[in-house]
Amino acid sequence: MKRVADKADLVLRAHWDGKFPVDPRGIAERMHATLATCSPESGSIVIKDDEVVISVNENESSVRQRFTIAHEIGHWVLGHGSNFRDSPEEFLTQSPSLVEREANAFAANLLMPKSAVQDKVFVEKASIEAMAEWFNVSRAAMKWRLRNLHLLS
Ligand SMILES: [Zn+2]
Repeated sequence: MKRVADKADLVLRAHWDGKFPVDPRGIAERMHATLATCSPESGSIVIKDDEVVISVNENESSVRQRFTIAHEIGHWVLGHGSNFRDSPEEFLTQSPSLVEREANAFAANLLMPKSAVQDKVFVEKASIEAMAEWFNVSRAAMKWRLRNLHLLS
């Protein structure tokens, strides 16, 4: 998933304001995507000509919505194509679909930048709960990211 991590770094460098927690809505807006709402699915992305519409289910928790937007940006910049309608199952790290796993890995890289996670672990010795709160992600997503960076066995 090196390609995925590199893409997330590029997006952060070009479109992130440098503030924590990373704001995926702000990033999507700076990338000129239009944000909309959807239901019952968790999220979707439609790319038509040069217009990109990212939809998110506002009935879900804000932590979930943040991950969903980051996941949909992932489908976009990883060139997965259009018309993804993501049900909750698509957000499991063990999803059988490669593009879904890639979009999840992208979202984790975007919301929890590697150097910031390393700082939290090595400098601040922060707990998983404290880190999940700081990055404004679920504990499950935080754990996944730490394992992915070999910082948690
Ligand atoms: Zn997806």
